[in-house]
Amino acid sequence: MSGVNEIRSTFLDYFRKEGHEIVASSPLVPRNDPTLMFTNAGMVQFKNVFTGLEKRPYSRAATAQKSVRAGGKHNDLDNVGYTARHLTFFEMLGNFSFGDYFKERAIELAWTLITKHFGLKKDKLLVTVYHTDDEAAGYWKKIAGFSDDRIIRIATSDNFWAMGDTGPCGPCSEIFIDRGEHIWGGPPGSPEEDGDRFLEFWNLVFMQYEQVSKDQRVDLPRPSIDTGMGLERMASILQGVESVFETDLFRHLIDAASSALGHGPNADNVGSFRVIADHLRSSSFLVADGVLPSNEGRGYVLRRIMRRAMRHAQLLGASEPLMWKLVPALVREMGQAYPELVRGEALITETLKLEETRFRKTLVRGLGLLGEATDKLGAGDMLDGETAFKLYDTYGFPLDLTQDALRQRSISVDLAGFTDAMERQKAEARAHWAGSGEAATETVWFSVRDKTGATEFLGYETEKAEGIV
Ligand code: ATP
Ligand code: MG
Ligand code: MG
Ligand code: MG
Repeated sequence: MSGVNEIRSTFLDYFRKEGHEIVASSPLVPRNDPTLMFTNAGMVQFKNVFTGLEKRPYSRAATAQKSVRAGGKHNDLDNVGYTARHLTFFEMLGNFSFGDYFKERAIELAWTLITKHFGLKKDKLLVTVYHTDDEAAGYWKKIAGFSDDRIIRIATSDNFWAMGDTGPCGPCSEIFIDRGEHIWGGPPGSPEEDGDRFLEFWNLVFMQYEQVSKDQRVDLPRPSIDTGMGLERMASILQGVESVFETDLFRHLIDAASSALGHGPNADNVGSFRVIADHLRSSSFLVADGVLPSNEGRGYVLRRIMRRAMRHAQLLGASEPLMWKLVPALVREMGQAYPELVRGEALITETLKLEETRFRKTLVRGLGLLGEATDKLGAGDMLDGETAFKLYDTYGFPLDLTQDALRQRSISVDLAGFTDAMERQKAEARAHWAGSGEAATETVWFSVRDKTGATEFLGYETEKAEGIV
């Protein structure tokens, strides 16, 4: 067992036998939710069921949900290639109870699955609970037989989940595996946690309150359960490898990239192969769900992902567009579970090819400029905002691509200078247009320009401010 496809079906079969309706993944572009950039968790499609606005013919469900965490409140784009566990696209396996079973049963179901069916060893596992959630701590003791030192109490919002400023909320409990001292990282809740030794793989959310207003929280009459387990993380555990990138599926994608490039990964460039494999998945799934690269909103996040991947392809010496050549390997790996990939294969291939063909022209020249501008810079230095803006404006380098390109050398970008340069350019454009006499056209032109300019750049702000899940 333990291939990605088998783990997915083991999870779903288990919950089906436990009386859960197996519900298909919802698309990556959330229906009826303009505030959310992409579906980033299993519960997204059930939001209205949790709040009671919508009724379903079942009170228990399980899903394998396509999720993207790039842009929006959860943005893991900058983590990919730098940690062993973060992807921009991943599958979240989840079980849900809508006012049916609650805390004790949820813990019991999770514990039985991971120890009996997945065969994880108890002495490698530990959990976190919200610091005041004695109930959850008590159930972990009773069900798993954990001693207190295996149940870590956390007081931060990491262990308290809320749908938004108001609405359902409650404590959560995360399950971690200790992968051994040879991997760097401290226990959950410690300052060194962000290493990869203690790997979080499952989050159980106990929705037991409703936040009615800023100061008032009431008990929900019928508390609910929302859980999320990262399929790729579980695969890395069951396959005994240290990162999600060494699991079967990713190995095959990286192999495809190696054959297309004519050479495989080594210690220095493995990060680029990982980014390419991850970004191939997120780009392809986004296109399959109807997102196309553009200069604003969701389309701009997709463009940023694609262009980032293309820079890494360039780093690996690709002399022609690479990403589109990897689509067949992805369809082979995931097309059966996600037929939209098969249906969308031609569109995905064309979209990747076109974007890469176009971007390559300015990518090479932009990298040349970036090289010259940072020639004399070293760790701790800053690239001036003017150059970062020129790369953005003339060469199509999203700001985060420039930042990513400089990260290994510990060079940052002067963000204030970047914004200034952008504002200056807008003001100049306005001055240039003033007095041409065609007042009506001008007004339209400026409002379009301000709008697109603002959306592209303010995108980062909006994404940060946006927040659900
Ligand atoms: P982390 O702390 O590692 O960033 P998280 O607490 O943000 O994870 P949750 O929001 O609790 O993650 O999501 C539920 C589960 O989904 C996680 O326990 C993990 O298994 C998986 N998951 C979350 N983010 C990612 C990601 N970027 N790539 C792969 N799997 C992920
Ligand atoms: Mg996270
Ligand atoms: Mg976490
Ligand atoms: Mg979590």
